[in-house]
Amino acid sequence: MMEMITDPFDDDKLREECGVFGIIGKDSAAAMTVLGLHALQHRGQEAAGIVSCDGEHFHSHHALGEVGANFSSEETVSRLLGSAAIGHTRYATTGETALRNVQPLFADFDFGGFALAHNGNLTNAYTLRKQLVKRGCLFHSTSDTEIIIHLMAMARGGTVIDRLIEAMRQIEGAYSLVCLTKDLIIGVRDPHGVRPLVLGMLDGAYVLASETCALDIIGAKFVRDVEPGELVVLDGRRIESLHPFAAVPSKFCIFEYIYFARPDSSVEGRSVYEMRKRIGVELAREAGIEADIVVPVPDSGTPAAIGYAEESKIPFDLGIIRNHYVGRTFIQPTDRIRHLGVRLKHNANRRFIEGKRVILIDDSIVRGTTSTKIVEMVRAAGAKEVHMRISSPPTKHSCFYGIDTPQPEKLLAHNYTVEQMCRFIGADSLSFISLDGLYRAMGEAKRNAEQAQYCDACFSGDYPISLTDLNANANQGELSFLAKASE
Ligand code: SF4
Repeated sequence: MMEMITDPFDDDKLREECGVFGIIGKDSAAAMTVLGLHALQHRGQEAAGIVSCDGEHFHSHHALGEVGANFSSEETVSRLLGSAAIGHTRYATTGETALRNVQPLFADFDFGGFALAHNGNLTNAYTLRKQLVKRGCLFHSTSDTEIIIHLMAMARGGTVIDRLIEAMRQIEGAYSLVCLTKDLIIGVRDPHGVRPLVLGMLDGAYVLASETCALDIIGAKFVRDVEPGELVVLDGRRIESLHPFAAVPSKFCIFEYIYFARPDSSVEGRSVYEMRKRIGVELAREAGIEADIVVPVPDSGTPAAIGYAEESKIPFDLGIIRNHYVGRTFIQPTDRIRHLGVRLKHNANRRFIEGKRVILIDDSIVRGTTSTKIVEMVRAAGAKEVHMRISSPPTKHSCFYGIDTPQPEKLLAHNYTVEQMCRFIGADSLSFISLDGLYRAMGEAKRNAEQAQYCDACFSGDYPISLTDLNANANQGELSFLAKASE
């Protein structure tokens, strides 16, 4: 029987949950937003949506699937009128992937229409939702983001900005928001600044985006990062910056540097590609070994592998080739070739591997299934030795701040020592960069154990933002009685 399967390589990665984009003061704002979302596609492939405003009415299109599949028709984009638009690309964090959860969310308030796109995850969402339902709020989706809309509806403040601030002061968790009203776009980053949000400019018009690569694609200039805890209000030509939350230490997600952000983006003013190379350099210093060739696990292991090869003086080669023309899911024709499925997307470059001692560089080990298959593939291609080096510390804990991670018991590093993990994946040796090594690559002397300079909770278990729902065991109940099959 024909079966649709998910690529086992993609399935064994942590996944960024969402990308957000907004532009105001530019004709064809929706077309610009489509381009921006294309550049942010790596941050979520399960659904995409755009809401635009022509100064009076709002126009929207939401769909399950990738940006290209849903926003390539001129007819679709031309219906999204106006010189302001926001967009969202999604991988579900809270709330199943269903059309009713696809963002931007939209609501009619007494002050007018309001659309909202969110990257992150709210850690007291379930607790707040239960309180709101008791007070009479009727939820349309199962997404945590809708809570913000209801909190705004209940807020006493007069202006949209007052209401948004009042709502966000009740929220805990990680969020970068882009909002649209009939004459403004608004960007907000949570007080710790866990998820990224940047400000750009195109011909005098303002742009907000999760990453700078989304500015590049439309030819916008990077202006600056939206600061942790900052709320920026943008009309066609002006920007107002507010800091409505109590100041707390910055806790930017260190995994954005390792894997989530695109390597051609800049984060906190630094090139992601350059930082990944520096992580590779530190990894070589900490976990060097004699070998003949350094091979990246494509594509995300490549910059770290270049850094590792430069530092270790061992030649770099593309010993595994990725087929870019296979999507994330594909038909697996028969059970008999199940074990070949992995080769649809990756293949060992035998000529460069045969008879060699190979150092494989990857960015992380999640469940370990990918690493096992890669090691097996490289051995089958004739490698004499296979040494795995990982450019992140062991991922031992789940993320509750907007990254899809399995339950801790599914994480290989949660259950096993490095030695046991090495045996599990079948490598001759396995090493991870240390937490301090990672911080050295970031330009710090070491990790500050009292007050870590970044969020690194999935490695350290040191969660910087309260996990209210988890601690209250609050997220066990059913969010909606609407059966998924009917959506
Ligand atoms: S727990 Fe890990 S993935 Fe999640 S925000 Fe913190 S560093 Fe990033």
